[in-house]
Amino acid sequence: MQGINGHGPKTAILYARVSSDDQVRGYSLDQQIGTLRGWAAREGYEVLEEIRDEGWSAAYLERPGLDRVRDMVEAGGVGMVLAQDADRITRDPGHRAFLDDDFERFGTRLVALDDWGDDSHEGELLKFLKGWVSKGERLKIAERSRRGRREKALRGETVGHLTAPLGFAYTPDKKALVVVPERMAHAERIFEMAAEGRALLHIKKALERNGVPTARGKQTWSLGTLHTILRNDVYRSRDIEELRAILPPGAMTKLDPEKRYGVWWYGRQRHHQKQTVEFGADGQKRYRRGSRTEDLPREQWVAIPVPDCSIPPHVVDAARTARYEYRQPATTGYVWQLSGGVMRCGGCGHAMSGVSSVANKDGTRRRYYRCHHRARNGKHTCPNGNLYRTNKIEPEVWEKVSGLLKNPERLLIGIERMIEERRAALRGAPTREHEHWRADMEKIERMRGGYLDQQAEGLISMSELKAKLARLDERRETAERELGKLARQQESIAELERDAAALAERFRFEAREGLDLYTPEDIHDAYRALGINAIAHPDGNVELTGSVFLGDIHSDSVRSQPIERSQRPLSTDAMRPLFTVTPPPESR
Ligand SMILES: [Zn+2]
Repeated sequence: MQGINGHGPKTAILYARVSSDDQVRGYSLDQQIGTLRGWAAREGYEVLEEIRDEGWSAAYLERPGLDRVRDMVEAGGVGMVLAQDADRITRDPGHRAFLDDDFERFGTRLVALDDWGDDSHEGELLKFLKGWVSKGERLKIAERSRRGRREKALRGETVGHLTAPLGFAYTPDKKALVVVPERMAHAERIFEMAAEGRALLHIKKALERNGVPTARGKQTWSLGTLHTILRNDVYRSRDIEELRAILPPGAMTKLDPEKRYGVWWYGRQRHHQKQTVEFGADGQKRYRRGSRTEDLPREQWVAIPVPDCSIPPHVVDAARTARYEYRQPATTGYVWQLSGGVMRCGGCGHAMSGVSSVANKDGTRRRYYRCHHRARNGKHTCPNGNLYRTNKIEPEVWEKVSGLLKNPERLLIGIERMIEERRAALRGAPTREHEHWRADMEKIERMRGGYLDQQAEGLISMSELKAKLARLDERRETAERELGKLARQQESIAELERDAAALAERFRFEAREGLDLYTPEDIHDAYRALGINAIAHPDGNVELTGSVFLGDIHSDSVRSQPIERSQRPLSTDAMRPLFTVTPPPESR
């Protein structure tokens, strides 16, 4: 089959892209792909692959999806790369010209449905011009939209975010919020639990147990999200007098003096984004997206009134007060910060468990961590007879860990170093392995050809041929399986990088918003999220190790299990000491 201008196969790659700003405007990948599928079907093109770049700006040519497109084009057999609009591919005319030329070498046409279409000089020129104009426009648009958002805020209109706060939804014109009562009930429950003095971890677990989705529809709640909700003034309704003091004059006129309103703050922060590409020593591309958040001064904030969420203000206030009062839950007993496998015995590898002394006359108890395995199975099973007083070891560990978290740059360096190590561990051998299996695949194909020739020349019988081909098929399956395994190893690194980015973002937030407010449960949760382990060595030293990975670990399943590679959130070579604390333990 031939392409539209008479050359090349009738095959197409569909390419769609949204930047983070596009997502705000509701320009979706699915809509683009839908349009492209329709076009390809009408024109009789076979779709080879649908490739999406989500959250990538057109200002850079180096994007994971577009790189995949270019790799496929280079491999050959692609008649056309199709995008909905020229600016989905690039806004830079130089980039566009480069891609057009590059693709032409492989017999591939790059087509946007809004292109002027033909290969005439006029068409080329228009295409170039269009891209050039949009490059200059881009900067103006960015500035215009920032100014526009601020003006909207000053008029009291809700400024579009990706997601409305929990319990709210946007009106279709995105200018205002409305309350969604059944979702607001979830928000109210969060405030009630916090007002009862529940730790964020408790609230998180309760929500997840009951299958309550976040505002973004996720099933997992982070402590950071809960903290943000509790602080968000959209849930703290105010009467008209309270509002008069903070609203811009223009926004007051539209309000009903009989009603109460929440407040959405606009312009507290400004986010700057950048994206870069680097080549690692392995020749693999590394995409980095950095962002920097700038806190803006109070006088630049703009208050936007939103409908009353009808959560009683005293509940909201109580929830916030409770959060800021450090207190230990009286009803649930002591919270063992290092339980659940956080503290492990360096003598035998089992989890350390907590033990309390009998209460003194004044009701106080002494609490210790000790090797659970030794306590249960006898002194001969583990050389570590140390006891660690909770009131010493818990604050020391938290001081070290929170000190690390308060320095997000250092944390980021640690994360990057860890990823580097993982990559290095995979680098040398897999490349060799990869080459080996690829060579094997080629060899198999050559042998297949040879056997077929032999049979054609009557040198071997048909049944001999069948047997030989069957053996070759087995070999090929093995090679394919091994190649697949190598590909998955690369994927696992990509996954790790994604998780690391999310983790870094979350802790950058939490370091700012007050690690000092963490309850013992929050602390325990942080250790688990970070994969922090306190290893209690028989010589009395306590060594902290940490991997940075937000894994889903369950405390009961790891309790008193020996350390095994499979139970680690990451492989053990990624677990390296972050630092060592040396409390002289009290020995038996
Ligand atoms: Zn032990």
